[in-house]
Amino acid sequence: MPNPITCGHHIAGRWEPTGAREILRANPADTGELVARAPEGGAPEARRAVDGAHAAAEKWRKVIPPERGKVVLRAARLLEDRLEEVATLLTREQGKLLAESRAEVKRAIDIMEYAAGLGRRLGGQTLPAEAPGVFCYTLRQPVGPVALLTPWNFPVAIPCWKIAPALVCGDPVVFKPSPLTPATAVRVVEIFLEAGVPPDVLSLVHGGAAVGTALVDDPRIAGISFTGSTKVGMAINAAAARRMARTQLEMGGKNPQVVLADADLASAVEACITAAFGSTGQRCTATSRAIVEKKAAAEFTDRLIARATALRLGRGDAAGVEMGPVVDNHRLAEVEGFVDRARRDGAEVVAGGGRPQDLANGHFYAATVVRARPEQEIAREEVFGPVLSVIEAADFEQALRIANSVDYGLCASVFTRDIGRALTFVDRIEAGMIHVNRPGLGGFAHFPFGGLKHSSFGAREVGEDTLGFFTDLKSVYIRQE
Ligand code: NAD
Repeated sequence: MPNPITCGHHIAGRWEPTGAREILRANPADTGELVARAPEGGAPEARRAVDGAHAAAEKWRKVIPPERGKVVLRAARLLEDRLEEVATLLTREQGKLLAESRAEVKRAIDIMEYAAGLGRRLGGQTLPAEAPGVFCYTLRQPVGPVALLTPWNFPVAIPCWKIAPALVCGDPVVFKPSPLTPATAVRVVEIFLEAGVPPDVLSLVHGGAAVGTALVDDPRIAGISFTGSTKVGMAINAAAARRMARTQLEMGGKNPQVVLADADLASAVEACITAAFGSTGQRCTATSRAIVEKKAAAEFTDRLIARATALRLGRGDAAGVEMGPVVDNHRLAEVEGFVDRARRDGAEVVAGGGRPQDLANGHFYAATVVRARPEQEIAREEVFGPVLSVIEAADFEQALRIANSVDYGLCASVFTRDIGRALTFVDRIEAGMIHVNRPGLGGFAHFPFGGLKHSSFGAREVGEDTLGFFTDLKSVYIRQE
């Protein structure tokens, strides 16, 4: 068994490995294995990190954007060199399958490459003047220190897709990862520092809400980019609004896959298995509702049950395993609570619905399928685990209504052979990322990532839209004659 990794804060240019209180992180697939110990920070550590970021801001904004981009590109190359090491650590600490960890690290690399290129495209526009003899243009500039608050479910990709554009745009960073993934957070920061980010430009503070709220409330933090639950995101937004700080919030989802009667059912079932149970359902983009037209519902559900029941659970690094554990005991209890309440609500659990007996060492929960009605809690709220609700709809119109009837609007997919209906779905579905005849997950590294309603707020992440968060825009008018 490998030794636990001792993690540290990285504050204002120095590593600080100790703290009065400690975060202990065990392997979710085998809770006897301690993976990491990290100091648990609070408001004092947050304040010192902001001191450092604030002091470094002027220096970093003067580095020309293509140079800032080159540093991020070097970080991408270093992460590529260490892909296997980082993926292995990610699986130990977070629990996902090794293949999923590798895919996550690759995604981080792609996004870093894309963000690095923004260093050469960080321009504004020149536009025609409205009055004679005036030259006018827009200019993008850094906003200043930003706080990046991230969840545990993609602890490499999400930090990288926030840190990389922040740095390229010229903003010093204070990064607060989830307390469930301190070791992967340290690896990410080490790589950026090794690539040449000046030590005082990138700080890392371990801890939970105490660190997060101190950063959100600090008047020297110009913007907060947060990914996590809708409940916390809303509280952050309210606090930030009191001092007019900008926010970029990526939050929960209750993503539908609509299956119409004319669909290729085999491919719809496979997509649903991938999107619902990949990453053990712990994805903001996970499909958690299959809304199936009545004529196809029985066959779709039977095939789905057969596939879900056959999924092999186990350690993420074991051969042949198809689904890993949930992240911790708290998440496991939450998932159990949802399924228990669904049963009491009259929903029918048709696959899974409990902890597998043979995997008692870790936080495992079986791939679960529930036949539900649209108004039931299990069909409306984010479970964030391997639980899929199957909901029957009389026809396409009713399927659309059900799909749009929740507070969330992150991503959605539709399975049909009718191009007209597919386009109507794209037009009317309340979601930010839409797939036709594909699993309803996120998207490509250079496409905007985000949703509607209670799923997202502020500028989209990834893609060029993220510049709207990490830079200020000035309009300039110069009299020429
Ligand atoms: P969470 O909201 O509990 O925590 C997210 C981060 O915020 C963590 O770093 C946490 O320590 C910090 N935090 C907690 N309370 C805070 C407070 N009061 N003030 C400031 N910071 C605080 O979420 P989680 O459990 O880590 O992650 C799961 C959630 O993330 C799910 O709801 C999932 O849908 C969402 N998520 C969304 C996206 C997206 O892009 N839309 C991507 C991944 C995960």
